Amino acid sequence: MSTQVYLTVDVEDWYDGMAELGVDMPRPAVCASGLDGLAELVAGTGAVLTLFTVANYAPLVADELRTLAEAGHEIASHGPDHGHLPEEYGALVDWLRKGREELEALVERPITGFRSPRFDVPRTLGLDRYRAAIAEAGFTYVSDTSVLGPASPVQEIPVLSWGRLPIGGGSYQRLFPKAVTRSAVDRVDKAVLYYHSYDFGATLPARSEIRSVPVAKQLLGRERVEGVFIDVLQRYGSEACTGG
Ligand SMILES: [Zn+2]
Repeated sequence: MSTQVYLTVDVEDWYDGMAELGVDMPRPAVCASGLDGLAELVAGTGAVLTLFTVANYAPLVADELRTLAEAGHEIASHGPDHGHLPEEYGALVDWLRKGREELEALVERPITGFRSPRFDVPRTLGLDRYRAAIAEAGFTYVSDTSVLGPASPVQEIPVLSWGRLPIGGGSYQRLFPKAVTRSAVDRVDKAVLYYHSYDFGATLPARSEIRSVPVAKQLLGRERVEGVFIDVLQRYGSEACTGG
C-alpha cells in the first residue's frame, strides 16, 4: 500500500511573519503571493490541496483563493491573524471563530479545518480545553503537531513528524536530500505535509537585502522548497484533509 499524502499550504504573508519575529522589512507595493505559481503547479495533476489561510491576509489574495477553491481545493483556517493564541477560553473561542467566519464570508463556502500559527497550544488551558475550544468555534478537524487521541471532540490530522522534528514541513525538507522526505513518507499510511504560499514564486527580498541572521535563516535554501513539493506531488499526488 502506498502512502496517502495530504499536501497542505499555509497561506500567509512572509513580511508579516518576519514582523512577528521582530524583524521589520518593508513589504513591496506590488508583491506576488505565490498562489498563482502554486495553482499552475497543481493544475491538471488531479491533486487536491488544503490551504490553511490567515484571515487578515485573505483579502489581499481573494481572487487567487477563489480560483483555487473553484478548482476544488479546500480552504481552511490558519487563524484570524498569525499572532499567538489567546490564553483565556472565551477569548480563544472568539479568536478561532473570527478566523473561520471572515474566511467563509470571503470564499463563500464552509470552513471546517484549523491549524494554529506555529502549532502552538495555549499553555494555561492545556490540550483538552484547546480541542474543546476548536470544536466550539465550529471546526470539525485540526491539523497540528499535538494528539489528544479519542477524547478529542475534533478529528486530529497531525503533520508528519520524525521524533520531535516536524519533517512534514517544507522549511525542514529544504535542508535534506529528497530521499529523506520520501523515506519518512513511505513509513506511514497517511502523511500530512505542509508548505507556505510564499515558496511558490512570491516576491521575497533579494540576497543583497539580507542584513540579519533571522532573515538569512528564513531565506536560506527557500528556493529549494518548490522542487521538494513538486517531487512529492508527482510521486504521491494529494487529497484534501476533508477527503480522507
Ligand atoms: Zn503559519
